[in-house]
Amino acid sequence: MEYISTRGNAPALGFEDVTLAGLASDGGLYVPREWPVLTAGEIASLAGKSYVETAVTVMRPFVAGALDDDALRALCTEAYGRFDHAAVTPLVQLDAQHWLLELFHGPTLAFKDVALQLLGLLFERFLSTRDTALTVVGATSGDTGSAAIDALAGRDKVEVFMLHPAGRVSDVQRRQMTTVLAPNIHNIAVEGDFDDAQRIVKAMFADSEARGRLNLSAVNSINWARLMAQVVYYFYAAVRLGAPDRPVAFSVPTGNFGDVFAGYVAARMGLPVARLIVATNVNDILHRALSSGDYSCERVEPTAAPSMDIQVSSNFERLLFDLSGRDGAALAGMMDEFETTKKLSIPADMLVSARDLFSSARVDSDGMAMAMRWAHDKCGYVVDPHTAIALSAARSDDLGDVPVVTLATAHPAKFREAVERATGIRPALPARVAGLFDRQERFDTLPATLDAIRAYVLERAG
Ligand SMILES: *Cc1c(COP(=O)(O)O)cnc(C)c1O
Repeated sequence: MEYISTRGNAPALGFEDVTLAGLASDGGLYVPREWPVLTAGEIASLAGKSYVETAVTVMRPFVAGALDDDALRALCTEAYGRFDHAAVTPLVQLDAQHWLLELFHGPTLAFKDVALQLLGLLFERFLSTRDTALTVVGATSGDTGSAAIDALAGRDKVEVFMLHPAGRVSDVQRRQMTTVLAPNIHNIAVEGDFDDAQRIVKAMFADSEARGRLNLSAVNSINWARLMAQVVYYFYAAVRLGAPDRPVAFSVPTGNFGDVFAGYVAARMGLPVARLIVATNVNDILHRALSSGDYSCERVEPTAAPSMDIQVSSNFERLLFDLSGRDGAALAGMMDEFETTKKLSIPADMLVSARDLFSSARVDSDGMAMAMRWAHDKCGYVVDPHTAIALSAARSDDLGDVPVVTLATAHPAKFREAVERATGIRPALPARVAGLFDRQERFDTLPATLDAIRAYVLERAG
């Protein structure tokens, strides 16, 4: 499979290079040159298959030319063998119409493990035949950092520098990062907020000295391989609910538009997806974009669902690319305008075709708390704040009798203060992370400046 940039002005790459690259050189994001399609017969044949076998069938066309079935199966077996549920992503029924897809059975208790456990193994495999080492620099508000660190700790030829805003991630989230003592893991607490950390990372990628001396790579969801790994569980869940003969809807707690874009890919591949509900909190740029075409930045308001507290959703560009008829030049123009004015008005025809598949909702903290209490009181199930937002959106969407799967993106124990506030219940930490508060931590605290971070990284990886 070949991959092309959404801005039409970067070299096409194969799967191996696209995995190691992250962003395209023209500032765009890589997407497959065409969407592979599974026939109804192929989808039907997934019934009863294990998660790993489903993964091999769904990802096979995307890795063609880089990995054969045996190699792909071996990587998936290793990655998903680290999940603590035999079904990897089990489906739980809440009532007659609503299901939860539990995506938090990986090592760090959030759905990002599904993609990053595989990405860590892909990095290791692809780097093993090259002489260059990779330097991963990332900023995290919590979940990406811990999932990336777990996936990359102790691996050859990768140094990881993870920046988190000092004092602004939960204790569980911080300890999941800072108690990993492998020598290739470097945790940096930045004296600033998440936006400061993110700005420094972007500046590093644009800095000629850092670029000249380091082979920089990204682990956030602009990385295509991450999205690809997430397509699998849409198939896995829908087939269990009767696909390809019965359409299924999904409600997705959305931040950077990565997870819900994977649902879009599943639909393009032939899965009968009745609807994709883009659930946002009060940081609602995507809800405004999909309901009225107004894609414009506003100030970020911190909420109990921090992984959805975003200003811009990077992966939305991948959808806009398709909606524009895959016109890279036109999209580059739109994105330039957005980058200078911080707003974009989505043309009416593009909006109409987006709304064929997508609907959206904005759920505030009251709506979130009500969904948490409904799940607990009515179904005996405790959800985390992110999942609660999507569950609220799912319950208010008008879908007739189509089954709706809400993606449960984090274990409630990861956000136990917020859960306790809404339900009075303090979820216990699962056994696999029970020792978290007894372990030694290691991190350095640095000022929020490019100079300080660059010097630190170059000294250790340059
Ligand atoms: C990252 C994250 C999200 C948002 O996912 P996107 O792919 O960025 O839209 C939602 N919930 C949780 C718990 C997350 O960690």
